Amino acid sequence: MIRIHPLECGTITAPAEVFQEDLTGERTVPVMAFLISHPTRGYAVFDTGLRPDMDGRLLFGAYACSLPEDHDLASRLRAIDVDPAKIERLVASHAHFDHLGAADLLPNADLYIHASELERSLADHPKAHGRVALEMGHRRVLTGDSHDLFGDGSCELFHTPGHTCGHQSLRVKRAGGYDVLAGDACYFCETLEPLGVQPHPEDREVYLATLARLRAMARGGDFVVPGHDLGFMASIPGESALSPTFSPVSRPPNG
Ligand SMILES: [Zn+2]
Repeated sequence: MIRIHPLECGTITAPAEVFQEDLTGERTVPVMAFLISHPTRGYAVFDTGLRPDMDGRLLFGAYACSLPEDHDLASRLRAIDVDPAKIERLVASHAHFDHLGAADLLPNADLYIHASELERSLADHPKAHGRVALEMGHRRVLTGDSHDLFGDGSCELFHTPGHTCGHQSLRVKRAGGYDVLAGDACYFCETLEPLGVQPHPEDREVYLATLARLRAMARGGDFVVPGHDLGFMASIPGESALSPTFSPVSRPPNG
């Protein structure tokens, strides 16, 4: 069966109010990548975590980045005996620095990015720090409202706009529903219940509609995995594809 393996690739510390309107104080959040292993069709990675040269940097005067040695995506993959050069698919939830910045660590992957996200990023939106990653030469697969990632209906990319116009999430079919990698459409475990709202989405109305859609999915039995909160690890349902401990795919795609 398909497995989803969460990889923490750095942290960001910032005033909590930059993440959610009603929070105060300071919050340190994980920056996530997810390895998806398909039993016969190889690997995909959803988001990249921080780029190694971001360690110790302060972005926009608020986001303090930390990436300890061996926490970058390539090191995390090697630690579980997965060769980063053999990853065939890189999915960008969106083009911000903490999601696409380390794309060069997967040099041979095709980049799956929503068509409108690519257009926005190349137009040099000031927050589009993934733009550098877009110029790394990855072959691009432009996605739309929905995209079948492995071509067998098991993993679907779907458009979840608002945080950015071309934001996309990934849902993986399993018994009783879906596991949903929400990316920045949903930051935290407590974002959906009660509703916690980001202060500066690119389009607030569209963002709120996406949030309502994710909330309905969660209420309907889907397991929504937030983009910046490891708290979900404590409530992974038994039938979920999410696996905190990695086991290699049964038939290595390249071996
Ligand atoms: Zn983010």
